[in-house]
Amino acid sequence: MIKTDILIIGAGPTGLFTVFEAGLLKLKCHLIDALPQAGGQCSELYPKKPIYDIPGFPEVLAGDLTQNLLEQSKQFEPGFTLGERAETIEKQEDGSFIVTTNKGTKHQAPIVAIAGGLGSFEPRKPLIPNIVSFEDHGVEYFIKDPEKYRGKRVVISGGGDSALDWSIFLAEVASEVTLIHRRNEFRGALDSVEKVQELKSQGKINLITPAEVINIVGDGKVKGVVVAQSQHIEKEFVVEADHFIPLFGLSPKLGPIANWGLEIEKNAIKVNNALDYQTNIPGIYAIGDVNTYPGKLKLILCGFHEATLMCQSAYQRINPGKKYVLKYTTVSGIDGFDGSRK
Ligand code: FAD
Repeated sequence: MIKTDILIIGAGPTGLFTVFEAGLLKLKCHLIDALPQAGGQCSELYPKKPIYDIPGFPEVLAGDLTQNLLEQSKQFEPGFTLGERAETIEKQEDGSFIVTTNKGTKHQAPIVAIAGGLGSFEPRKPLIPNIVSFEDHGVEYFIKDPEKYRGKRVVISGGGDSALDWSIFLAEVASEVTLIHRRNEFRGALDSVEKVQELKSQGKINLITPAEVINIVGDGKVKGVVVAQSQHIEKEFVVEADHFIPLFGLSPKLGPIANWGLEIEKNAIKVNNALDYQTNIPGIYAIGDVNTYPGKLKLILCGFHEATLMCQSAYQRINPGKKYVLKYTTVSGIDGFDGSRK
């Protein structure tokens, strides 16, 4: 059981900044994210796009903003459960909550801050009848640790940047890489497409287009995939493999949080914005893109503001009656934070 003061669901910009604001109040945080990395939309959807409306930064790349937020929060030593989706919540007799992920990891905290953005990013799965039975037995939708594929035969399918970039990367790691795409043209960066063609001519990537994986073969574990190649004649054949990695992108879904008894309006969680961004369940807050209230704007800086007010309220809930005097970080010298801006 992982225990913390504030359990943050979602490690996007709002969740990451919450760690800093909570840290100033000496509250410990642990973050859960369905993605294998922190940064939410910034790292998943547009890491190379400049953002122009972060106060004090005339321009910052979304990926760099994520790195800066991680750096800023590091001093307060947050814990992370990445690549797992928060699935269920149970209220305990002492008023705390236990949140369990889809992989069974349990977390306990008196405060839950939902910073789930557009929801958890779920992989788009190909329509292959037996795919679910092979999940985690050779079928993976994310690559968490490329070392897992060292010396293995890997089939990747997809036509975007993820499929191209991972094929290029794994060409040096796996014993065999096959990239399958249903069109001859790819959607990813031209540079990556050229690199894949170059690796193909060197015999380091086996490129099959236009084609689709239509079935998986194996007995409890992936042994290969059935490929249908369509040009003029329908042709089916098996490519032997240890892993099949469909990389068809991610789609956000509010997902299991929608069943937690929270008031939901238009796929977002209603909060009390006049006070502290608390939901209809005391002790559960919703901040950032995931919440709604009159006049709501889905912007990063609004998430930062909401996180700041939410932490003040969380402090009062955890320390009832204890007075907290707001000081500026540059002069307060709070333990664990030396007050300086480095
Ligand atoms: P998110 O960034 O969505 O992060 C939420 C995280 O929660 C995700 O990582 C998700 O996986 C996780 N999550 C959700 N549910 C669960 C669950 N059940 N279990 C585990 N994890 C879960 N905003 C600006 O201010 N300026 C801009 O210039 C700007 N440009 C943008 C450009 C694009 C293309 C897009 C798509 C958005 C842009 N935005 C911009 C909006 C901005 O990205 C969002 O406002 C911001 O990302 C919201 O942050 P967040 O932390 O609230 O949510």
